[in-house]
Amino acid sequence: MRLLSIVTLAALAASAPAANAAVNVMASTEDLADLTRQVGGDKVKVESIARGYQDPHFVEAKPSFILKLAKADLLVVVGRELEIGWLPPLVQQSRNAKIQPGAEGYLDASLTAKILEIPTGQITRAMGDVHPQGNPHYWLDPGNGRHIAKAIADKLVKMAPADAAYFQSRYADFDKRLAEAEKRWDAQMAPYKGLKIVTYHRSWPNFTDRFGLDVIGYVEPRPGIPPSPSHTIDLIGEMKRQNVKLILVEPYFDLKTPNSIARETGATVLVLAPSVGGDKDITDFLKLFDHDVDLVVSALKQTGGK
Ligand SMILES: [Zn+2]
Repeated sequence: MRLLSIVTLAALAASAPAANAAVNVMASTEDLADLTRQVGGDKVKVESIARGYQDPHFVEAKPSFILKLAKADLLVVVGRELEIGWLPPLVQQSRNAKIQPGAEGYLDASLTAKILEIPTGQITRAMGDVHPQGNPHYWLDPGNGRHIAKAIADKLVKMAPADAAYFQSRYADFDKRLAEAEKRWDAQMAPYKGLKIVTYHRSWPNFTDRFGLDVIGYVEPRPGIPPSPSHTIDLIGEMKRQNVKLILVEPYFDLKTPNSIARETGATVLVLAPSVGGDKDITDFLKLFDHDVDLVVSALKQTGGK
C-alpha cells in the first residue's frame, strides 16, 4: 500500500472529491438535505442551513454557515427566490468558486420541478411579496420530491462518476418507496377532494393541488404582509359563506389572528409542518407527508369533513 504524506492528504481533501470520498454537500433547507441523503447515502456528507421549523424566507445568516459553504463541493438550493434574503451573501462570502450560481457545484432544485403560480403580466409592490418566478414552496408535492431527488442523483453521478451505480440504485429505491407512500396518502385524502380550506401563507399550493383541496383565502392579506383587521373581517365573511372549517398555519406564525378567525367561524386551526425538521417526528421527506396527511385527515374527521 502506498503511504500518503499528511501534505498529500490535505491536498486531496481540498481538491475535487476523489473516488470513494464523500461529496461534501450543503443544502439550503432540511428537505433538500434529506433528499440528498436519500440518493447520496454514505457517499455524501450533508448539512442544511435553514431548520425545518424556521420561516425559510427569513433565516439568520450566521458566519458559521460561510465556513461550511467554503468547504462544500455542492450547494443545493430551493431557488425561485425563496432564499433571496439570506443565501446570496453567504455564498458570495464563502469565496468558494465551485458553488457560485451557474457553477458545476450549484444545483437549483426547482429547475425540474412542477412550479405553480408563475405570475403573468406586470408585478407591482401593491401585490406584496409575490415571487416573480412562481411559488417557491414546491417541495410540498411528493411528486416534486421525486423530481428533486432525480436532479440531485444526476448531479452526484456527474461529480462522482465512480459511484454512479450506487446513486442510481439509491434513487430507484427512493422512487419505489415514494410511489408506495403516495398510494397511501392519496387514499387517505381521497374522501376530501374539493374541500375548501384557508391557509396562513401561500405555502401549500403544491400540497393542495396534489391532494385536491381548494384554498379559498389566506390569513395574510398578501404574501409576506401581516394580517390586517379589514382583511380578517372579509376572510371571516367569506369562510362563513363557503362553510370553510379548516385553517392551515405554518409553525412560525403567530396564532392570534387564526385563533380569532376560528372563534368567529367555528373552524379548526391546524399547525402543519411545511418541512422536514418542522416537528420532532419528521425526520425525512416521507415522514413529512405521513405527518401532514395524518394531521389533516384527523382534523377533517373531527370537523365532520365536508
Ligand atoms: Zn412564501
